[in-house]
Amino acid sequence: MSAEASDTRAPLLEVEGLVKHYPVNAGVFSQEVARVRAVDGVSFAIAPGETLGLVGESGCGKTTVGRTLLRLEEPTAGRVLFDGKDLATLARSELRTVRRSLQMVFQDPMSSLNPRMTVRDIIAEPLHVHRVVRGEALDVRVVELLEKVGLPGAWRNRYPHEFSGGQRQRVGVARALALGPKLIVCDEAVSALDVSVQAQVLNLLIDLREELGLSYLFISHDLSVVRHVSDRIAVMYLGQIVEVAPSARLFTDPVHPYTRALLSAIPVPDPRRKVQRIVLEGDVPSPMNPPPGCRFHTRCPAAMNRCRRDQPPLVQLPGGHEVSCFLADATAQGGDWRQATEERRRAAEMDRVATGRADAESGSLAFDEHVPEAASEPTPPAWVARSFVAALLAALLGLVVFAWPVSLVDRAMQQHAGLEGQLRAHADATGRWPERLRDLGWRLHEVFDDGAPIDPWGQPWEYTPRADGFSLRSFGPDGQPDAQSGAGDDIQGSGG
Ligand code: SF4
Repeated sequence: MSAEASDTRAPLLEVEGLVKHYPVNAGVFSQEVARVRAVDGVSFAIAPGETLGLVGESGCGKTTVGRTLLRLEEPTAGRVLFDGKDLATLARSELRTVRRSLQMVFQDPMSSLNPRMTVRDIIAEPLHVHRVVRGEALDVRVVELLEKVGLPGAWRNRYPHEFSGGQRQRVGVARALALGPKLIVCDEAVSALDVSVQAQVLNLLIDLREELGLSYLFISHDLSVVRHVSDRIAVMYLGQIVEVAPSARLFTDPVHPYTRALLSAIPVPDPRRKVQRIVLEGDVPSPMNPPPGCRFHTRCPAAMNRCRRDQPPLVQLPGGHEVSCFLADATAQGGDWRQATEERRRAAEMDRVATGRADAESGSLAFDEHVPEAASEPTPPAWVARSFVAALLAALLGLVVFAWPVSLVDRAMQQHAGLEGQLRAHADATGRWPERLRDLGWRLHEVFDDGAPIDPWGQPWEYTPRADGFSLRSFGPDGQPDAQSGAGDDIQGSGG
């Protein structure tokens, strides 16, 4: 169906400001220290019989959108209206009824089908649970569903491992069709399949859509696949939708720099055709700490100062095209974004010349200046910084508490060894031990810079000559020779 046609029909599914955050807990009391902002304010609508493709890099939140709108995950905020009913406000029994109309086809058919169940039991399970058909009618319905997805009904008693990858995915589609849904979320439904099998399953999905009037939310990272099945395509980046357009228009006239980079990465099967590849620098920032302003600004080759500060709104362009980028302003007014970008770049260059680059050097660039920016490292979340500072302070405290006294003891031991050596040298020269330490005269300067025999705690060394030698003691910080209050208290020696 065409996008224009879909515009005229009441939407089957409306998603308004959908938010899904996952708390990150840490610490002894497992308190919340951060949030993974997997989906952050996503809005879109799907008309009856329409297929909306949802594309983006791995980790951008597209699968979370699919799971959250089916209530496989509870949304943090936002509304999901299906057939005009808000799913969050439905009673349990009503939700159960609505769930028949909302089904999902998963990425890996091998892990999404129970290997211990026959294909008959797998397809019959939702019919059992929702008490749709029983007895012989159940078998008839299973055969009907298998034949609808191009598999012989006689294979119903086989197990999943007896099927090829493509056949298993057909079983997954048959199970999703069992309850007569209106909308199927296909989450990377063909990503695990070979290219030839992918085409078969995609064509099957298209045929079923025509025959049964189904709507699809087709989630994939593969733009070529999405183009094949979708009426419209929404591009996601870091938890937000940045561009939505009818499928053909998105490929011929993309506006958002991220979409343009994605499209430039699609291989063209024509060696004579030169494609200008746009290589984005840097990694996708962490969804725990998304950049302020436009989330794409850390990698955008056309980023402006304004992009780092303000979040661009989703601007409506003609032909059902919506873009979240400041460059789209010019496009919305009938201009060309390429021209708008070039004009901004030229204006910025003239500004720079006019101001003698003073602004640029001081870091206060003009408001709309074009500044191609190297991808910056993602800023670590605040709790990481706090933990780092706490660890640093603890290490410093450890140094003060333990290392400082140890260094005083070390110095006292050096003084002791030096004094003992000088006492012996004095005795060798004079034939007797000195009466007091001061009698060592110049020898004290060999041990103490200022010649004063003071220990590292500021107390005088105690020296007592004896008939058989001498005793030499350091008192530590309190000046009490018997107290054990300082690490240097026990430094003593006796010559002889
Ligand atoms: Fe975002 Fe600005 Fe780049 Fe547009 S030009 S995508 S608003 S950073």
